[in-house]
Amino acid sequence: MGCVLRYSAKDSYVRNRSSNVMVELPGELLALKRFHGHLGPYVVIGYKMGQIGRERIPNRISAVVFTGSKRPLSCTIDGIQFSSSCTLGKNNIVVREENQVKAEFFDEKRLLSVELVEGIRERIDATTTKDNEELVALDLFTASYSELFRITEGESAQSGRVLKLR
Ligand SMILES: [Zn+2]
Repeated sequence: MGCVLRYSAKDSYVRNRSSNVMVELPGELLALKRFHGHLGPYVVIGYKMGQIGRERIPNRISAVVFTGSKRPLSCTIDGIQFSSSCTLGKNNIVVREENQVKAEFFDEKRLLSVELVEGIRERIDATTTKDNEELVALDLFTASYSELFRITEGESAQSGRVLKLR
């Protein structure tokens, strides 16, 4: 099958309902959609969280995700795995059942906390439908880090920390 990596035109466009204009999805979002199976707000939020983690902690990164395992919040975990290189297979990501859109990234030295700004989750949950989820996702994708996240950096005490997580 030589067509596995190609996208149909229909897949790569999303219709903006207010302007009735077709908007093309960026390649990164198409790849994310293929990985996750659909494109909604929380996988994009996770994707951006993971990017922040990876940018600031480029090596030996591990993650703790506080979303819990219920959808749609748990979609965040896939976004984080996609962009941060913290994956279940490598055993450097842990999910906590805290029902929060928050992740921590750390190595031996640093601890980075990335949390969704208050009010955004409520807005997403109140406005997202099956029909508009790709548009909401695209909106979030184009927002700046500071519009979406409260980011705090500190020191990590990894040995003690990892023991606590397991
Ligand atoms: Zn999802």
